[in-house]
Amino acid sequence: MVRFNLLENALDSVETGLDYFNKALEGHDRRDYKQCLLNLFQAAELLLKAVVSRNGPGAIFNPASLQEKCVDPAHPTESELHQCKSVNVSQLCKLLKIYHPAEFSESALQMMKTVGQLRNNLQHFALEVRPQELAMQLSELYQQIFRPAFVIIQSDETENSWNSDLRQDIIALEQQFLDITVNQEYTLALCPVCESFSHFILYQGESFPTRTHCICCGFSLNNLQTWDFQECPECSAPSVIYLPKQRAGVCLWYKCEYSKMDGFVPMEPCECGAFRMEGHCSNCDSEES
Ligand SMILES: [Zn+2]
Ligand SMILES: [Zn+2]
Ligand SMILES: [Zn+2]
Repeated sequence: MVRFNLLENALDSVETGLDYFNKALEGHDRRDYKQCLLNLFQAAELLLKAVVSRNGPGAIFNPASLQEKCVDPAHPTESELHQCKSVNVSQLCKLLKIYHPAEFSESALQMMKTVGQLRNNLQHFALEVRPQELAMQLSELYQQIFRPAFVIIQSDETENSWNSDLRQDIIALEQQFLDITVNQEYTLALCPVCESFSHFILYQGESFPTRTHCICCGFSLNNLQTWDFQECPECSAPSVIYLPKQRAGVCLWYKCEYSKMDGFVPMEPCECGAFRMEGHCSNCDSEES
């Protein structure tokens, strides 16, 4: 119950924050930056609390306050929790280090503190930071805090609920963020790993995809280079990346059947040094015939 409210409020704040982000980048109005910062920071705090509270609602509340306000501190009621003091941002960062050291980097937690400081300055003084710098920090905050938090929160979702409301909300937020920050330079495809339609393929000014990430399961490909791509047996585009761990390929051309609905491309290294795709190696098999 507590987790649900936290999440719902968090996602609302992400959406409001992104709306202001869009306005701020278009009009460079300091008031829009201010609203964006307030909303996105609040969203980050709520999201991270939702992440930590997966270890029990008691995890995000001050133990002394739980003892004082709750009849049974191990099983607090929602109305009791409303009266309890919850952890502050630096305590929250410590908890994340304990529960999720792999998902949140040291720089992500540092970013959280920096943006929190900006937020405090903003509430008490004038905002003394250049809009461009702020935009960059907010964008980093989204990538380093929101994305990993989204993936953790969805790990509760059962396998067949890939089209759940929560997932659809998170996919829509990711689209909204990319529309603001990279414009048209991305496409959306089926994720071969979790099979939800949430694999974002980014071009970053190049004619080929340079990186990808799935906002549902966290699967990602980074620093792609032209020579990493193999010709796809289905769409014939030079768009397939070999995944050694899965011993399969993934086609990154969003119009390909593999990208739209089939998932993994059957693919394995051939003894000739090239790849055998869909059971066929263009190197060896054409030599034989
Ligand atoms: Zn996925
Ligand atoms: Zn293809
Ligand atoms: Zn071969």
